[in-house]
Amino acid sequence: MKILVTGGLGFIGSHTVVALLEKGYDVCIIDNLSNSSIDVLEGIAKITQKIPQFFNFDLRNQEKVEAFFKEHHDLAGVIHFAASKAVGESVENPLLYYENNNNALVYMLKNISQLNQKNFIFSSSCTVYGEADTLPITEGAAIKKAESPYGNTKQIGEDIIRDTCNAVSDLKAISLRYFNPIGAHSSTEIGELPIGTPQNLVPYITQTAIGQRDELSIFGDDYPTEDGTCIRDYIHVVDLAEAHVVALERLLQSEKKASYEVFNLGTGKGSSVKEVVSAFEKVSGQELNHTIAPRRPGDVVAAYADTEKAQDVLGWQTKLTLEDALESAWKWQLKLKEADA
Ligand code: UDP
Repeated sequence: MKILVTGGLGFIGSHTVVALLEKGYDVCIIDNLSNSSIDVLEGIAKITQKIPQFFNFDLRNQEKVEAFFKEHHDLAGVIHFAASKAVGESVENPLLYYENNNNALVYMLKNISQLNQKNFIFSSSCTVYGEADTLPITEGAAIKKAESPYGNTKQIGEDIIRDTCNAVSDLKAISLRYFNPIGAHSSTEIGELPIGTPQNLVPYITQTAIGQRDELSIFGDDYPTEDGTCIRDYIHVVDLAEAHVVALERLLQSEKKASYEVFNLGTGKGSSVKEVVSAFEKVSGQELNHTIAPRRPGDVVAAYADTEKAQDVLGWQTKLTLEDALESAWKWQLKLKEADA
């Protein structure tokens, strides 16, 4: 069975491609390399001994999307990762985000009608919940007004898919709301490749520990949490990748003609920024330079997943710990340094 993975050379995409190949699926990737590298294809091949088909084009090009689907009627499913994901950039350039994340999604869904099997998995985010009223966060929690154009593109994306599922009789889709994906493949062949200064906590930590950054700024230590720093649910990217295969298989095996479902993907455990720093110091044996800085605008105090629905319905739960994830992220950073030298 052949599966299309858009953004398949990105951080979560590449780990999902590995998980699919290891399960015996054929994979073809569309990626415009805007936030990824062609070298990732080699990393995937080294891990799996398989080379997925690769197409380099931009999904904002409607004609190309149409032509691609015309030639690939045999696809059994689509996992759509390709999107822009930097919150700050989305504030500066909102139209890029709406175009990249929403226009491209519309073109994908328009053309999926050409396929015999219309199975679609969408990368969504726990940002749709904003500052949730209760913790842990269930899929039934209210969707809050997005704090950034990026967050809004995910909310709109989910709406677009749900409405399309209601209208297209044989479209089956799942939106997966990720909590905080971190870590790297244990082989150190693939991992996160932030462009410029990392915005996310874990790549910032590993780059600081390796000497690329002077110190980590902890954004706020006066939040109403035990140690005053924000709480998130950090999920190992390898666990997250597995969840995509499980979700895809749910669609492939479903007897229903059409459906739309949403799942949280997290560990269910919240960790504070200070806890992440301590855990990193423990697994890496490095002392991390850090300082307390003002709060970052738009940050919520705490977010962690209620994992019951994913567990009960998908039969999926995380297997790897925060320490596993931090250790793999550190090994990946060491490997990047070695490759640089
Ligand atoms: N954070 C931090 N320093 C950094 C980057 C992030 O203190 O350099 C904090 C951030 O305020 C949040 C947590 O780490 O509480 C996770 O942030 P990240 O950007 O990784 O993910 P988010 O939850 O914002 O999607």
